[in-house]
Amino acid sequence: MTEELFLKDSYVREFEAGVVELSGREVILDRTAFYPGGGGQPPDKGTLGVGPVRASVVDARREGKPGGARSEIVHVLDNPIPDTVRKLRGGLDWERRLAHMRHHTALHVLSGVIWKNFGAKVTGGQMRADRARMDFSFPEEWTADVVGEIELLTNEALAEERPVKVYELPREEALKDPDLIRTQVNLVPERVRVIRIVEIEGLDSQADGGTHVANTREVGQMEITSHKSKGRQNKRIEFVLQ
Ligand SMILES: [Zn+2]
Repeated sequence: MTEELFLKDSYVREFEAGVVELSGREVILDRTAFYPGGGGQPPDKGTLGVGPVRASVVDARREGKPGGARSEIVHVLDNPIPDTVRKLRGGLDWERRLAHMRHHTALHVLSGVIWKNFGAKVTGGQMRADRARMDFSFPEEWTADVVGEIELLTNEALAEERPVKVYELPREEALKDPDLIRTQVNLVPERVRVIRIVEIEGLDSQADGGTHVANTREVGQMEITSHKSKGRQNKRIEFVLQ
């Protein structure tokens, strides 16, 4: 099982690890800071190397179930490294990862804002290094005015410099929290007994395995670049960060 360093500290960008398995261009380590993708957040890129040996990590993925006994993160390299290597030093493409973290936190702030102000629930989200989009079930009329108001309220919430807290809760406790119920904590598989929570203080709590900045001030301000109606209920917003 790979120790997932990003779960406890999203800001780990360099680390050392032992090689568990090396096969062709794929490496499994005993610990890693590489996020394997999931929850709308793309997998990390970066490098792995030791001495003169060096390869780019072009992809990462999880094998086995998150939180399961055999959950491992596979790093996919641009070229194979010698199978005699026992230890490697990892480094993330930090600019890209930090951008994912800022957009991810912005999506959670947006989720809290549209729930508190419009009673609308999120149905999906996707982030990139330079933009993000969110889908939600929005019962009201979908006008440019409403979208402008969402942008204004989200930027106000971001500017309030709210701490982003990451912690674990026993499943039974999480299932009683109204905010977590709203964000569908019940969908976390039954086998997961301790649930990782990401809380934007006073605004939004979700069961989440992704990486986030520590305070909404690090997100800056957002600008909604497009909005679409994808049916009577289903609405989409795309935004960039400034
Ligand atoms: Zn999330």
